[in-house]
Amino acid sequence: MTVSSPPRVLTVAGSDSGGGAGIQADLKTMLALGVHGMSVIAAVTAQNSLGVQGYWELPPEAVRAQLDSVLGDIGAQAVKTGMLASAVLVETVAEALSGVDAPVVVDPVGVSKHGDALLAPEAVETVKSRLLPVATVVTPNLWEVSQLTGVKVEDERDLRRAADAILALGPAWALVKGGHLPGAPVDLLTDGDREFRFTAERHDNRHTHGTGCTLASAVASWLALGEDVPSAVGKAKEYVTGAIARGFALGAGIGPVDHAW
Ligand code: PLP
Repeated sequence: MTVSSPPRVLTVAGSDSGGGAGIQADLKTMLALGVHGMSVIAAVTAQNSLGVQGYWELPPEAVRAQLDSVLGDIGAQAVKTGMLASAVLVETVAEALSGVDAPVVVDPVGVSKHGDALLAPEAVETVKSRLLPVATVVTPNLWEVSQLTGVKVEDERDLRRAADAILALGPAWALVKGGHLPGAPVDLLTDGDREFRFTAERHDNRHTHGTGCTLASAVASWLALGEDVPSAVGKAKEYVTGAIARGFALGAGIGPVDHAW
């Protein structure tokens, strides 16, 4: 019997030893949404519910070799990037992805919820000049918007200005996540012409570790399943909202969202 193969989605990101964010969240999301998940590991974090205790980057040759192995044989219908740690790794990944005929979802990871840096400060310029131009969708939170563009979002009315500043750096779509603004969480998606606002109920649950990774992976998964960008983002929001509602306690700190629903 031949079984048809599911769409393939690649994450290029950092490992979270605690299993709540990074590569581990990405692969769990992909499993939950019915695609085949593949992983290129850029960095390894020592991490738990209390924060990131340390991280180690892989050599650029090791990252490039993983990319070549996966893309040269299996291929991908969508790619997601997360924690890339350093300028040389951002450059390596951007170069490899510039030749890939698949949508690329870039989560421009800067710091963790605990405030631990996951990207070297000097790599921000490389993210702007090399990675964002190859992106189909970029998914910054408000802190990342400010780091990448200098735009400070104070209320919902600033979201479009923030998204336009992200679009000026070259991606096809910007999804600005306004979850940290007061009131109901609202995210704004635009390609410069069309604009979509996604609102969700606020869940009073502190166990939200891995939210950003999960959203970006869900967008990539739905793109690989054939949805267009606005529809993929809508479905991904629905999935991450359910995962946040079911987030659970682990360790003494912030627990993960629940991918298995
Ligand atoms: N660890 C890794 C490897 C990540 O990629 C990320 C976020 O992208 C985090 C930790 C931070 O996750 P959170 O901010 O949801 O705690």
